[in-house]
Amino acid sequence: MKVFKFGGASVKDAAAVRNVASIVARYPDELTIVVSAMGKTTNLLETLVKAHFNSWDEKLEIFAEFRDFHLRIAGELFGSVEDIPTEITALIGAVENRLNQPPSLLFDFEYDQLIGFGELVSSQMVSCYLQAAGIANRWIDIRGCLRTDDKFREASVNWKWSEMLVNNTFRFPENRVYVTQGFIGSTVANLTTTLGREGSDFTAAILGNLLNAESVTIWKDVPGVLNADPKLFSETVLLKELSYREAIEMTYSGAKVIHPKTMKPLHNKGIALQVKSFLEPDEPGTIIHQIDHTLELTPVFITKENQAVLTFSPYDFSFITIEDISNVFAQLSVKRFKVNMIQQSAIDLNLVVDTPEVGLESAVLELRKSYQVKYNTGLTLITIRHYTEESIGKLTAGRQVFMEQRSRRTVKLAVK
Ligand code: ADP
Ligand code: ASP
Ligand code: MG
Repeated sequence: MKVFKFGGASVKDAAAVRNVASIVARYPDELTIVVSAMGKTTNLLETLVKAHFNSWDEKLEIFAEFRDFHLRIAGELFGSVEDIPTEITALIGAVENRLNQPPSLLFDFEYDQLIGFGELVSSQMVSCYLQAAGIANRWIDIRGCLRTDDKFREASVNWKWSEMLVNNTFRFPENRVYVTQGFIGSTVANLTTTLGREGSDFTAAILGNLLNAESVTIWKDVPGVLNADPKLFSETVLLKELSYREAIEMTYSGAKVIHPKTMKPLHNKGIALQVKSFLEPDEPGTIIHQIDHTLELTPVFITKENQAVLTFSPYDFSFITIEDISNVFAQLSVKRFKVNMIQQSAIDLNLVVDTPEVGLESAVLELRKSYQVKYNTGLTLITIRHYTEESIGKLTAGRQVFMEQRSRRTVKLAVK
């Protein structure tokens, strides 16, 4: 069995959904198809969640945009508005019902109850369209078998439970093709949870692992993994082959092409991950698998925006000790900070962190009870794997470097 994951761009309109069907039609294999929300639907639903939570009037307008976007695509796919399968209209109706209920006081919980409708509707759209195109398949609500804890918006998978439930649900060869959602799961109490933004790649890897897939393919709007984001760099090179380790380092540093959590479940079972273009499905793309020899790679450029540098120093001019480091990290961990670079001198501890959406100022105020804290925001973290002096010069020209760190293979630079 092969797992295919189709992301937002691959199902952004009716033509894109037809293209997905044409790709699926090429494969006689048993398939598990994981689908993300269409186009930028998740961003739209985020605005809907905020409007609903705060009881803003705009919520009706935003809902109408969500509904009309999907009905227009469904109308094009199935002939007319009257021919739209009820599975699709029922899900849109469920969003409306939810909006008619007053929200609870828990934002993260409310977020997860609404946001997953993007994936539910798009997967139904793909499933019904495949069916209409003669590709028999079964639609699965993944919340019935992907069990997680109740950390809403960033849930962790309960692997034992999910393994049993997933294998009871996806039965090959009873059905050859299954279609399901990325990004969402549910608690033991059947409350919807999500795995974090961009989490559909991770779902594909989870299902690949639990179902012992022969491979996982994520279909993208790029030829494969490139040595830089083509939206930011004009001359990019396709990386035909990568080790799991290289891919995990790249994506953890901020290469947005694959969710960083995707590699572990596949590495653990030795399942290859292919990244292929849905626009050029004949091209080989990138294969990520176990490689024991070192690959000679061209410099790989990764940028991550919204970074902040935090500098901690003891008030009494004493050295930074291991206890200080442990104390600072304990506080940052409670506040769910993500640390991307660490550097220590005699009296300073310097950290580069993702700037949190809210709460940086209040966190700093609290940390100032124990340390002098200085910080700078609005920085970019540049990571160059397999760097050369020339490549560093090119990326730092005309920019102020706040922090720099080099290892044998990688240089990291926090720049403004
Ligand atoms: P999906 O919606 O399918 O998950 P994403 O938009 O999340 O797709 O990921 C694909 C995008 O990743 C590309 O359009 C590209 O701009 C970006 N990207 C960032 N870094 C890279 C890279 N190193 N190689 C290829 N694409 C990259
Ligand atoms: N639709 C979700 C998001 O945009 C999950 C995903 O696409 O991977 O974050
Ligand atoms: Mg993505």
